[in-house]
Amino acid sequence: MRHPLVMGNWKLNGSKHMVNELIAGLRHELSDVDGCDVAIAPPFIYLDQAKQAISDSHIALGAQNVDINLSGAFTGETSANMLKDIGAKYVIIGHSERRTYHKESDELIAEKFAVLKEAGLIPVLCIGETEAENAAGQTQAVCARQLDAVLKTMGAPALKGSVIAYEPVWAIGTGKSATPAQAQAVHKFIRDHIAKHDADVAAKIIIQYGGSVNDSNAAELFSQPDIDGALVGGASLKADAFAIIVKAA
Ligand code: PEP
Repeated sequence: MRHPLVMGNWKLNGSKHMVNELIAGLRHELSDVDGCDVAIAPPFIYLDQAKQAISDSHIALGAQNVDINLSGAFTGETSANMLKDIGAKYVIIGHSERRTYHKESDELIAEKFAVLKEAGLIPVLCIGETEAENAAGQTQAVCARQLDAVLKTMGAPALKGSVIAYEPVWAIGTGKSATPAQAQAVHKFIRDHIAKHDADVAAKIIIQYGGSVNDSNAAELFSQPDIDGALVGGASLKADAFAIIVKAA
């Protein structure tokens, strides 16, 4: 019933040359893919170039961040309307690297969620616990708190058509993915938590897993009933590996 989404988060990687090469490779590898939505999120400066390069393909464009303001004296920022204007469809918010290095709070991320909905963009809301929180048995509490920041300000209907990415921080870029059973248990918790507010939204929402997904572990992760694709970092920078992940979904 749910259509999985595999999205590549290129993070702070790329060059004009690399954008063209990688997208050419993806177009070649993914020409016959059916049944899975695919998106890439290059750095801001390459978004427009990437948009041209993916034209007439089924690869969609995502961005890695957005500001809460729409215009004005906010040096260095990019608005939701600008992202819409250049043809982005998805925007990643709440990534642990932004929560950690840019001190983004749950409240700020909820504001970003709101501006994206207002602009007609699809938020990809990243949530997940750190290693210490995991060891302390706080995984569910952390995920609930991060979800509640959006649920309390906007209500469950705002989650309709949005995407959640469960990304345990200890699994991001470490090569140490959550096991399929571990990830499934948290995904089910997230879906059940949303269902307390709106069962229909919960049943339909895409919940991606993220954290060291690669071409060897993707299929087993995707075989879990509540895992609807992946947010992929490192492995999204190689066309062949990313294509294997997409095909596994
Ligand atoms: C990410 O940054 O969202 C991510 C999941 O990275 P990686 O796949 O490299 O762990």
